[in-house]
Amino acid sequence: MKLISAVVPCYNEEAAIPYFYKEICSVAQHPRLQDYRFEFLFVNDGSSDGTLTLLKELAEQDDRVRYVSFSRNFGKEAAMLAGLTEAKGDYVTILDADLQDPPALIPEMIGYIEDGDETGKRYDCVATRRVNRIGEPPVRSFFARQFYKIMNRISKTDIVDGARDFRFMTRDFVNALLELKEYNRFSKGLFGWVGFETKWLEYENIERVAGETKWNFFKLLLYSFEGITAFSTVPLAISSVAGISLCIVAFLALIVIIAKTLIWGDPVAGWPSLACIVVFTSGVQLLCVGILGQYLSKTYLEVKGRPVYIIKEKNTDGQAMVPKK
Ligand code: UDP
Ligand code: MG
Repeated sequence: MKLISAVVPCYNEEAAIPYFYKEICSVAQHPRLQDYRFEFLFVNDGSSDGTLTLLKELAEQDDRVRYVSFSRNFGKEAAMLAGLTEAKGDYVTILDADLQDPPALIPEMIGYIEDGDETGKRYDCVATRRVNRIGEPPVRSFFARQFYKIMNRISKTDIVDGARDFRFMTRDFVNALLELKEYNRFSKGLFGWVGFETKWLEYENIERVAGETKWNFFKLLLYSFEGITAFSTVPLAISSVAGISLCIVAFLALIVIIAKTLIWGDPVAGWPSLACIVVFTSGVQLLCVGILGQYLSKTYLEVKGRPVYIIKEKNTDGQAMVPKK
């Protein structure tokens, strides 16, 4: 019997987990999934509420439930990596705990991998994207859209707008992901980078079932920097081009000024414009240094080679078990 691992990153999801657990259990009963075993691998990302206690309770009652608990909050990227590392399944899927990623899609997903689509083409990975962002703050949607637009222009790796981290992957795909050892992880890019055949499923945005979103605008902004610096070096080129262009402009202006002084003399004027120019050029310089700094800081973190996460406790040792009837 093949094993399906469902990886669920949880950060303060005490309110949502009971709903999630109920839903995934009912999906596991689906006729299409009768020949499979399941493990539900919850990654507790340093929650400060009762998430871990709840997970332990579930694990007592149901031996399909496994958990990995971090020593502090390391972020969703770290939680996903821990889940993929610990998962033993022949297939691995990643879902959010808040039911924004409907587990009910799993039977369809496995179909694309094992039986193929209408033309019989088989896939290594089934990914999802949401076709709208209903229920999300408009400002957040706007910036998210701009991010994907810019990202796809400046990076060779395809990063799909609206793509979710909800995926169903074969063991080969997961092993390829685990080969990527980088510290600064941007999974939406890594998924595309490893290649393989990916089938995209679309669905309308679903609002979270309980609890609150763990992201705010600032966190998302920092995450988008992560994406840009991890998958593109174009910003470095931009800063060099901007620097060179400014030098050329300044050089031409200098010639004009010298010529003017020689021909008409030098009536002292133009301090305001001078001040503007000084401020502008120093601004551009700071921007360029900042861009360099972004890459340097990423390199610094990579070179230190710190672990992406630290596990405090887990119950995932040994073989995954057969579900209780
Ligand atoms: N999450 C996590 N660590 C974090 C933030 C979020 O493991 O630091 C998990 C969270 O518990 C949830 C998923 O990542 O299962 C998506 O988070 P959320 O629903 O808050 O994000 P949104 O859907 O609002 O983008
Ligand atoms: Mg959510």
